[in-house]
Amino acid sequence: MIKVSGLKKAFKNTEVLKDINFEVKDGETVVIIGPSGSGKSTLLRCLNYLEKPDAGLIDIGDVSANTERVKKPTINKLRMQTSMVFQHYNLFKNKTVLGNITYPLTASKKFKKEEAVEIGEKLLGQVGILDKSKQYPVALSGGQQQRVGIARALAADPHAILFDEPTSSLDPEWVGEVLKVISDISKKEKTMIIVTHEMDFAKEIADRVIFMADGHIVEEGTPEEIFDNPENERTRKFLRKYT
Ligand code: ATP
Ligand code: MG
Repeated sequence: MIKVSGLKKAFKNTEVLKDINFEVKDGETVVIIGPSGSGKSTLLRCLNYLEKPDAGLIDIGDVSANTERVKKPTINKLRMQTSMVFQHYNLFKNKTVLGNITYPLTASKKFKKEEAVEIGEKLLGQVGILDKSKQYPVALSGGQQQRVGIARALAADPHAILFDEPTSSLDPEWVGEVLKVISDISKKEKTMIIVTHEMDFAKEIADRVIFMADGHIVEEGTPEEIFDNPENERTRKFLRKYT
């Protein structure tokens, strides 16, 4: 489970996250939508401690952090509870496709080389690009690179995967294949939080949808509640742009 209470984050004097509270149950897929600048990426980055929150409690899996007094060992454990899939893939350009997956596993000394290769090949098969394992990222299409990013996130077998607009850098022709892979993973009972502007996809994949604006969670509910019957005027205004 993921449980976030009273999460706050400011950059200089600008409050970007203002008292964020939500939960994600094990196996649940939660989609976060909202206007540009509303704090969606900052929220995911705080969960993974790529940004240090200013206040709040974060529980992920069996790790609990009070962000105002958490110490380094707990931060490291918390980071290992989630893997991020980024908009711009963030692959290692000087490593092969397989190396991109095995390197983090062996570097963290959690796995021997052979075990890492076995895990890597299995996951590349799962995302449909095992035949590319010896290529370098530059030789792959955007959609294939993002599928490597997803396989890499799965390899660490984290408690939850956090996707930050996983398809927004892709040419339209590659979007479908990446959404398909994400959708397949969500059916495997993985706990996931997905930030996306793909509203049709959100509607299809989400168990629950959170609408954020101006650093707040404005409204949350089932896809039907949020997309078909939004209660808040701010949500309605945002969704009108997509219809
Ligand atoms: P988008 O849909 O465009 O990706 P978002 O909802 O992900 O937007 P964030 O990237 O979380 O929004 O940004 C929220 C606010 O925080 C923005 O005003 C942004 O300029 C600011 N911000 C984000 N990161 C930093 C940073 N490292 N330093 C200063 N300000 C930042
Ligand atoms: Mg963002």
